[in-house]
Amino acid sequence: MEKDAIVDRIKSLKKEKNAVILVHNYQRPEIYEIADFIGDSLELSRKAAETKADIIVFCGVRFMAETAKILSPEKTVLLPDKDAGCQMANMVTADDVRRLKSENPKIPVVSYVNTTAEVKAESDICCTSANAVKIVESLNSESVIFVPDINLGSYVQQMTGKNIILAHGFCYAHMHIFPDMITGLKKHHPEAVVIAHPECRKDVRDMADEILSTGGMIKFAKESPANEFIIATESGMVERLKREIPYKTFYPVESSVCINMKKITLEKVLGSLENEQYRIEIEENVQKKAYAALMKMLNL
Ligand code: SF4
Repeated sequence: MEKDAIVDRIKSLKKEKNAVILVHNYQRPEIYEIADFIGDSLELSRKAAETKADIIVFCGVRFMAETAKILSPEKTVLLPDKDAGCQMANMVTADDVRRLKSENPKIPVVSYVNTTAEVKAESDICCTSANAVKIVESLNSESVIFVPDINLGSYVQQMTGKNIILAHGFCYAHMHIFPDMITGLKKHHPEAVVIAHPECRKDVRDMADEILSTGGMIKFAKESPANEFIIATESGMVERLKREIPYKTFYPVESSVCINMKKITLEKVLGSLENEQYRIEIEENVQKKAYAALMKMLNL
């Protein structure tokens, strides 16, 4: 089937089945065309929860679709590719969190939203890359267990001065952005402002003019007087920035690609809607505990 025919068929099925399509910032640009909402995982899940849709199709990775299901347990949540997982989320399991808790009794656990539902259920509170510092600061404890991302955790440590007990997770797409890549881009674009995601390594964060979440990047680039930006995060983010701010120029770190994010194609979204696959199911007890950890963050 031609691309336009697939897009048309997705749009009509979406209407027929009362579905909403969520598209993460790092998706392929052609997936943006069928989106009801584009954004980061929590923002998308919250928007979908506010709709009256019966079905949510999440164009992203598994933990994102799980977050949508945690916030909307009554809706059918579909992930178009059953193998689209997040390597970082899979690096820290609920057993790892239970072990960290038994080794560090009475220390609160903060889990980044990039975790499985089971890990969220073991946590006291969740955080995003945008609010991680604020969440950790709000806790009445000088020590905090932070999972799964070692880079975001070390950034939080740096910003709060608290004793952060780090896990061993990392995002390979961000971990493989090295300082010489930023230097190379800067050489060709000396006027460009460098924006890094807090999932980047410390030596890359240290070279950045701004350290921002994906949502923060859009806001900052819109408001900044600068016209050129080097974007140190998954390279797909540049497509989102170009779409939002077409009159400015963005340079990606080309090699920073999340293969799991790119597993979603138009054909798979169509198959997902046609066959109502692949359904996300979360055990009720886990859903309730994970919901409580997410709500605690949202209430702050
Ligand atoms: S970009 Fe990194 S954190 Fe995001 S889904 Fe891919 S592996 Fe996970």
